[in-house]
Amino acid sequence: MGKSATIRFAADKNVGKLAKWLRLLGFDTLYESDAPKAGTTGFWEKDRIFLTRTKKRFLGHTGLQHHIFISSDRVADQLVEVIQTLGFVSADLRLFSRCIRCNQPIKTVGKEEVVASVPEYVWEIHDVFKSCGSCGRVYWPGSHIERSYKMITRLFS
Ligand SMILES: [Zn+2]
Repeated sequence: MGKSATIRFAADKNVGKLAKWLRLLGFDTLYESDAPKAGTTGFWEKDRIFLTRTKKRFLGHTGLQHHIFISSDRVADQLVEVIQTLGFVSADLRLFSRCIRCNQPIKTVGKEEVVASVPEYVWEIHDVFKSCGSCGRVYWPGSHIERSYKMITRLFS
């Protein structure tokens, strides 16, 4: 079992892009600015790893067991910081298994079910679709931008 099944994150409001990328890699990542959810869905749960760019922020939460201080400005470098700190390998990832908008796992759905939800040209050329049970967003190969793959490949090369 990969680490994506066990490691969970809580992303400070100043690392929103990083939060989306971690979801894209398959990690359960709550984002503080998704208010009011942050206060009610276990954002400060002890086993979540708090990601922040502000040292003061985690000093104020002494109950936190784990945090990673993010020092880079670019999201690609921030991802490297997380990956190296936790020692992730590519087998730990579950790419495109989670909704990047609301953090819920997405599920494979039948092609017929999404005919009204995706552009016609997309429906014509793709056979595999996934959908988020929470927000209804539909995903297909290519809906996550192609440079995602390139970036991920680079991270683990
Ligand atoms: Zn969603």
